[in-house]
Amino acid sequence: MARNNDTVSFISTPGFCSDCGSILPLLNDYGDVKCYGCKRSWGPEAFGDMAMSYTIHFNDKNVYGSTKQQEDNEDDAEGPIVERKCPQCNNDKMSYATLQLRSADEGQTVFYTCTKCKYKETENS
Ligand SMILES: [Zn+2]
Ligand SMILES: [Zn+2]
Repeated sequence: MARNNDTVSFISTPGFCSDCGSILPLLNDYGDVKCYGCKRSWGPEAFGDMAMSYTIHFNDKNVYGSTKQQEDNEDDAEGPIVERKCPQCNNDKMSYATLQLRSADEGQTVFYTCTKCKYKETENS
Protein backbone atom coordinates (compact mmCIF):
# COMPACT_ATOMS: atom_id res chain seq x y z
CA MET A 1 0.00 0.00 0.00
CA ALA A 2 1.58 3.28 -1.08
CA ARG A 3 1.92 5.93 1.55
CA ASN A 4 2.05 9.52 0.41
CA ASN A 5 4.80 11.91 1.46
CA ASP A 6 2.61 13.71 3.99
CA THR A 7 2.07 10.50 5.89
CA VAL A 8 5.76 9.63 5.88
CA SER A 9 6.72 13.02 7.34
CA PHE A 10 4.07 12.54 10.02
CA ILE A 11 5.32 9.12 11.01
CA SER A 12 8.88 10.37 11.39
CA THR A 13 7.69 13.10 13.77
CA PRO A 14 7.02 11.65 17.21
CA GLY A 15 4.59 13.00 19.76
CA PHE A 16 5.55 13.79 23.33
CA CYS A 17 3.98 12.61 26.55
CA SER A 18 2.80 15.74 28.38
CA ASP A 19 2.95 13.88 31.68
CA CYS A 20 6.63 12.98 31.72
CA GLY A 21 8.03 14.50 28.53
CA SER A 22 9.09 11.19 27.00
CA ILE A 23 8.91 10.72 23.28
CA LEU A 24 5.83 8.63 22.51
CA PRO A 25 5.98 5.56 20.28
CA LEU A 26 4.64 6.08 16.79
CA LEU A 27 0.89 6.03 16.42
CA ASN A 28 -0.42 2.65 15.36
CA ASP A 29 -3.03 2.11 12.69
CA TYR A 30 -5.51 1.35 15.44
CA GLY A 31 -5.76 2.12 19.13
CA ASP A 32 -3.71 4.23 21.48
CA VAL A 33 0.01 4.37 22.09
CA LYS A 34 1.58 3.81 25.49
CA CYS A 35 4.26 6.12 26.86
CA TYR A 36 7.57 4.33 27.40
CA GLY A 37 8.28 6.45 30.46
CA CYS A 38 5.11 6.51 32.55
CA LYS A 39 3.02 3.85 30.77
CA ARG A 40 0.17 6.28 30.19
CA SER A 41 -1.94 5.61 27.10
CA TRP A 42 -2.42 8.37 24.57
CA GLY A 43 -4.89 8.57 21.72
CA PRO A 44 -4.36 10.40 18.46
CA GLU A 45 -5.01 13.71 20.22
CA ALA A 46 -1.48 13.57 21.69
CA PHE A 47 -0.21 14.04 18.16
CA GLY A 48 -2.27 17.19 17.59
CA ASP A 49 -2.52 18.44 14.01
CA MET A 50 -0.35 15.59 12.81
CA ALA A 51 -3.08 13.15 13.77
CA MET A 52 -5.44 15.07 11.53
CA SER A 53 -3.37 14.31 8.44
CA TYR A 54 -3.28 10.73 9.60
CA THR A 55 -7.08 10.64 9.64
CA ILE A 56 -7.15 11.97 6.09
CA HIS A 57 -4.86 9.14 5.09
CA PHE A 58 -7.37 6.69 6.56
CA ASN A 59 -10.09 8.05 4.30
CA ASP A 60 -7.90 7.26 1.30
CA LYS A 61 -8.72 3.61 1.89
CA ASN A 62 -11.96 4.24 0.00
CA VAL A 63 -9.76 4.48 -3.07
CA TYR A 64 -8.58 0.94 -2.52
CA GLY A 65 -12.19 -0.18 -2.18
CA SER A 66 -13.10 1.10 -5.64
CA THR A 67 -10.00 -0.53 -7.11
CA LYS A 68 -11.19 -3.83 -5.69
CA GLN A 69 -14.53 -3.39 -7.42
CA GLN A 70 -12.83 -2.93 -10.79
CA GLU A 71 -10.97 -6.19 -10.31
CA ASP A 72 -14.26 -7.94 -9.63
CA ASN A 73 -15.69 -6.65 -12.89
CA GLU A 74 -12.72 -8.02 -14.77
CA ASP A 75 -13.34 -11.41 -13.23
CA ASP A 76 -16.74 -11.51 -14.89
CA ALA A 77 -15.12 -11.66 -18.32
CA GLU A 78 -13.80 -15.18 -18.14
CA GLY A 79 -12.75 -15.63 -21.72
CA PRO A 80 -13.84 -15.49 -25.34
CA ILE A 81 -17.57 -15.42 -25.98
CA VAL A 82 -19.04 -18.19 -28.12
CA GLU A 83 -22.53 -18.83 -29.41
CA ARG A 84 -23.84 -21.52 -27.14
CA LYS A 85 -27.26 -21.86 -25.62
CA CYS A 86 -27.41 -21.68 -21.87
CA PRO A 87 -29.55 -24.58 -20.62
CA GLN A 88 -30.71 -22.54 -17.67
CA CYS A 89 -31.85 -19.21 -19.11
CA ASN A 90 -31.72 -19.82 -22.89
CA ASN A 91 -29.24 -17.00 -23.36
CA ASP A 92 -27.28 -17.81 -26.53
CA LYS A 93 -23.90 -16.48 -25.47
CA MET A 94 -21.43 -18.16 -23.15
CA SER A 95 -17.80 -17.44 -22.43
CA TYR A 96 -15.39 -20.34 -22.38
CA ALA A 97 -12.05 -21.28 -20.90
CA THR A 98 -10.08 -24.45 -21.47
CA LEU A 99 -8.08 -26.48 -19.02
CA GLN A 100 -5.62 -29.14 -20.08
CA LEU A 101 -5.94 -32.15 -17.80
CA ARG A 102 -3.15 -34.38 -16.56
CA SER A 103 -2.06 -35.75 -19.90
CA ALA A 104 -2.73 -34.91 -23.54
CA ASP A 105 -4.39 -38.33 -23.96
CA GLU A 106 -7.24 -37.28 -21.73
CA GLY A 107 -8.00 -34.26 -23.85
CA GLN A 108 -9.00 -30.96 -22.38
CA THR A 109 -11.98 -29.73 -20.47
CA VAL A 110 -13.84 -26.69 -21.67
CA PHE A 111 -15.60 -24.55 -19.11
CA TYR A 112 -18.56 -22.57 -20.34
CA THR A 113 -20.07 -19.70 -18.38
CA CYS A 114 -23.34 -18.08 -19.34
CA THR A 115 -22.79 -14.35 -19.86
CA LYS A 116 -26.25 -13.63 -18.48
CA CYS A 117 -26.96 -15.88 -15.49
CA LYS A 118 -23.41 -17.16 -14.85
CA TYR A 119 -24.54 -20.77 -15.20
CA LYS A 120 -21.45 -22.94 -15.59
CA GLU A 121 -21.05 -26.21 -17.43
CA THR A 122 -18.09 -28.25 -18.53
CA GLU A 123 -17.51 -30.27 -21.64
CA ASN A 124 -14.77 -32.80 -22.25
CA SER A 125 -13.28 -32.89 -25.71
ZN1 LIG B 1 4.83 9.61 30.03
ZN1 LIG C 1 -27.88 -18.50 -18.58
